[in-house]
Amino acid sequence: MKCEVIRDLFPSYIDGLTSEESNELIEEHLEECRECREYLASMKEEIVEENQPVKNKKAVQPFRKLRQKTRRKILLAAGGAVLICGLILGGGLLYYSRTWTANSEDVKMTIETWDGIASIRFSPEKKNSRLYAETGEDNTITIVEGKLAPFTKAYNANAYWSCTFIDEDTVMGLDGQNMDFSEDQVLTIKYKDRTETISLADLAREALENPPAQSDEVKMTWAKEDNGTVTLGFFPEILGVSLKVEDAGEDQILIRQYYDSQGGTEENGAFYTVDFIDENTIRLSDGTERKLSQDDVLTIEYEDKTEEISFSDLWEGSLPGDAQEG
Ligand SMILES: [Zn+2]
Repeated sequence: MKCEVIRDLFPSYIDGLTSEESNELIEEHLEECRECREYLASMKEEIVEENQPVKNKKAVQPFRKLRQKTRRKILLAAGGAVLICGLILGGGLLYYSRTWTANSEDVKMTIETWDGIASIRFSPEKKNSRLYAETGEDNTITIVEGKLAPFTKAYNANAYWSCTFIDEDTVMGLDGQNMDFSEDQVLTIKYKDRTETISLADLAREALENPPAQSDEVKMTWAKEDNGTVTLGFFPEILGVSLKVEDAGEDQILIRQYYDSQGGTEENGAFYTVDFIDENTIRLSDGTERKLSQDDVLTIEYEDKTEEISFSDLWEGSLPGDAQEG
């Protein structure tokens, strides 16, 4: 797991929004990576700092809690039509340092999705500036810019917004309760010069969809029964991953990988079967028969490459690479 990916999960992690599996992965990484430990520590420090009022104690006080409360109130009023997740780093600072709404050209936006989490990072294009994401009603965040305090590490200049999706129309709220949203709800990002919208449903789909597996991390097996049924097995070469075979069109499959702390590589495999009646005929899932032609192939998609196996090779068991008889 790359440090960058881990770090993008930190805002959600700090807020307790990451899944148990993500937590495990993050903590495993933290044990091995000093830089990420320091990064997390400084991010936590920032949040504490920013929740601590400097001048006006009353106004700033439990800033995040206040936000949560307001949010919940709005939520009740609007029947769930508001921002239910998201995260503000730097909100408290707004009370005592000069800030302004950022121009879109001064902000680089990066969306990363992983394990149900969508994380948006806003990084300043200008040196010595830092960004804040201010959340408002109706899923709106305003990107605010300020000066980077001297001696602040550059990564602390970023603002983050993140969201944990349970399924395609449910998010995990800040209070840990799941909330539904509708297909037409958007996240609105406001800059000084323009406004951008992102569909929450699109974000959810992207966050929940796992990437295809790397071909060199998959071991393929082949087996043929007496009745002609050929079974291809796909097994992960690495622990902590399970595979699924996804239908990707006619004679086309995609091998997708999922994070899975349970089970070994044997149990976490997936299978694809081809029902041969004879060398030149297969039975389709609806029970009908199909005559094979010379150039019919089964296409297998991985993240890094696409493999084609002719049906006659499937029948014979002559497979590419180091595929074994299973
Ligand atoms: Zn790291």
